[in-house]
Amino acid sequence: TFSIISKALNAFRPRPTSPECPPIVVSQGLQEQLDYAQPAEPVWHAAEYECAGAESLGACLRIDTGDGIWVCCCGHENPLVHYQGAFPFKYLKCGRCDRILCPNCRTSEILTPIQSITTEVLEDRFNKPADEVRYCRVCRACGLTHRAAIDGGQIDFSHAPCPCGKVGTEDGSYFHIGEVDAWRRDPPARAVELSLARTMAASMRYMEKQ
Ligand SMILES: [Zn+2]
Ligand SMILES: [Zn+2]
Ligand SMILES: [Zn+2]
Repeated sequence: TFSIISKALNAFRPRPTSPECPPIVVSQGLQEQLDYAQPAEPVWHAAEYECAGAESLGACLRIDTGDGIWVCCCGHENPLVHYQGAFPFKYLKCGRCDRILCPNCRTSEILTPIQSITTEVLEDRFNKPADEVRYCRVCRACGLTHRAAIDGGQIDFSHAPCPCGKVGTEDGSYFHIGEVDAWRRDPPARAVELSLARTMAASMRYMEKQ
């Protein structure tokens, strides 16, 4: 673990910038960590879930369920997979429009937005040292997700500056890593619900502006 941490820290060293270089460099150490990250949630067995929304078990099995879904502002449904380690969802960049997850997007329980990391009431089970902390933030500058630490009963991100060098912690950047079960029980229905919720919220915002 120590070598992973020191690798990660090395990735945060400021680099000299020159105009020809693109600003975001994913260091080899970081890329390696992302490549080797193992799924954090138990393997999905279709038989354990009813898949009520699917017409048949066959239809249910064809769905690449993952651990949840992110419905982007552009309407694209991005699968979410929770990984072990410091970067629980790797980079959250939309597969269609390239935008980074924002507060107007909708996500299933695995990424449940929290109002504030200071007022969030921690559940006891997150204080067990054996469990990985089920809180994370997304860097709104580059999309990389960072797992929180719990320090003195507080959610803490001070150990994890983003390798992109930007602060990137606007409102709506913090999440509780929720259960996968609600999603896996009925992925098609949950995806439709979230898409509708996103569209409704977008039209409400539009009407408020009129
Ligand atoms: Zn998108
Ligand atoms: Zn969005
Ligand atoms: Zn970043």
